[in-house]
Amino acid sequence: MNVSFDLSGKVAVVTGANTGIGQGIALALAEAGADVALVGRSRAEETAAQVEALGRRAALIDADLSSAAPVQGVVARTIAELGGLDILVNNAGIIRRADAVEFSEADWDAVIDTNLKSAFFLCQAAGRHMIGQGRGKIVNIASMLSFQGGIRVASYTASKSGLAGLTKLLANEWAAKGVNVNAIAPGYIATNNTAALQADESRNRQIIERIPAGRWGAPADLGGAAVFLSSAASDYVHGHILAVDGGWLAR
Ligand code: NAP
Repeated sequence: MNVSFDLSGKVAVVTGANTGIGQGIALALAEAGADVALVGRSRAEETAAQVEALGRRAALIDADLSSAAPVQGVVARTIAELGGLDILVNNAGIIRRADAVEFSEADWDAVIDTNLKSAFFLCQAAGRHMIGQGRGKIVNIASMLSFQGGIRVASYTASKSGLAGLTKLLANEWAAKGVNVNAIAPGYIATNNTAALQADESRNRQIIERIPAGRWGAPADLGGAAVFLSSAASDYVHGHILAVDGGWLAR
C-alpha cells in the first residue's frame, strides 16, 4: 500500500495531555512513532511515562493556556527539547454551563480565551515554523457543538463553532504552503469533562440511546483519526472537520 501512517522521526505537540482525549491522542501518536511534547497547566507525568514505554521521547512543557502568552515559548521549547515541530494537536479545553439569560462575562471569557484564542495563537506560532519548513500538520479538537447548538453552554458552542471556522480559514491560507489544518469533532467521550453527564443516570441513558454505536467513546477511539490527520496519509485533506462520534451526527 502506497499510504503512510508512520510518524517515525516526527515531533508532535499535544496540549492538555495529562488526561482524557489529549492523553489518548498523545499515546496514539507515540505508538505511530512520534516524539511528543506534552503541554499543559498540570504536568503530564503519567502520559510521559507511557510515551517513553512505547520507545518514544516525551517533553513536559508547563503552560497555562487560559491566555495566549505562553504560545511562543511552547513552540520554542518543543524545538529546543525534541529537535523540531511537525504536528500540533490543539486539545486543551474547558466548558462552563449556565442558562443564556444568566451567562456571565467571566464564563464567556474563560472559555473563549482557552478554547479559541490560545488555540488560534498556537496555530499561528506553530504555523510560522511549519510554513518555514514547508510542511506540517495541525489538528484542532472541535466538538459536536461545531455543528449543533447545544444548550446552556453559550461560550463553549461559540468557541467550538469558531474553531471549526478557523480550521477552514487556516487551511485556505496554508494548504499551498504544505501545512494541513484539520479538526476532529469528538462525540460523547468518557473523560473528566463529561463526568457529570455520565453520573446523571437519566441523561446518561438518553445519551447512550441516541448514539448509534450504543456506547460512550473512549479517548483511545480518537487515536486513529489523530494519526491519520497527522500523517502523510492525509496530505490532500485540508479544512476537514472529522466527526468521531459513534454515529451521533448521522441521527
Ligand atoms: P478533560 O479530561 O477535562 O481534559 C481537558 C484538558 O485540557 C486537560 O488536560 C486540562 O488540564 C487542559 N486544560 C484546560 N484548561 C487549560 C489551561 N488553561 N491551560 C492548559 N491546559 C488546560 O476533557 P476532555 O474531554 O479530554 O477534553 C479535551 C478536548 O476535547 C477539549 O477541547 C474538549 O472541549 C474536547 N471535547 C471533549 C468531548 C468529550 O465528550 N469529552 C467532546 C467534544 C470535544 P487540567 O487537567 O489541568 O485541567
